[in-house]
Amino acid sequence: MSPDVLPHEKLDRAVIFLGPPGAGKGTQAKELAHKFSVPHLSTGDMLREHVAHGTSLGQQAQPIMASGGLVPDSIVLRMVADRIDRPDCSRGFVFDGFPRTVTQAQWLGELLKQHGFKQPVVVHFVIDKGLLLRRITGRRMCKVGGEIYNIYERPTRVPGRCDNDGGELEQRPDDREEIVGPRLEAYEKQTAPLAAYYRRLNRLHDVDAALSVDEVSSKVLEIVRNAH
Ligand SMILES: [Zn+2]
Repeated sequence: MSPDVLPHEKLDRAVIFLGPPGAGKGTQAKELAHKFSVPHLSTGDMLREHVAHGTSLGQQAQPIMASGGLVPDSIVLRMVADRIDRPDCSRGFVFDGFPRTVTQAQWLGELLKQHGFKQPVVVHFVIDKGLLLRRITGRRMCKVGGEIYNIYERPTRVPGRCDNDGGELEQRPDDREEIVGPRLEAYEKQTAPLAAYYRRLNRLHDVDAALSVDEVSSKVLEIVRNAH
């Protein structure tokens, strides 16, 4: 993956990443933000920041988050509006995990217009569900050095043992099929109308997320550069 900054290119708009958990969306969103020297915005990070600073939005969100509930749009949207107003967003920004619903997308579209931004570009990560399940459920981490393996795609020489230090490999609880399966289904249900919405507006660009990280990265850059 190239960490290069593109000093002579401007973003001038919002780039939105849509994709299932585990498809590499977060990594790509961060890399793109770095290349264009614009903020990488995640509502999760924003919420944690508001809570840490004890702002009024943070104080409203904190008990909801603590009980595992979904923070309502009334809080999330104010937080996003507040964040976009900051000067570091004046040259565009990258959204990772927002918007999640058509309502949020419509609201964001209005907000971007008000701020004089061009239409957003939506990068849509498309990947076969079976392949994605293998990628996630096959993941194993070395307890000693933290190296990541995959029992299907990057197996170790000795099963269950790290190639570097012989450390025991473990699966993160969240990577188990009984957790991942329902999460992917929930994602599909939630995202299908959002993807359809952006496709109707001609803003949606599909990327084959089964490709290598570098290949996905160059596709993403091509989409953003050719955006009109
Ligand atoms: Zn190891």
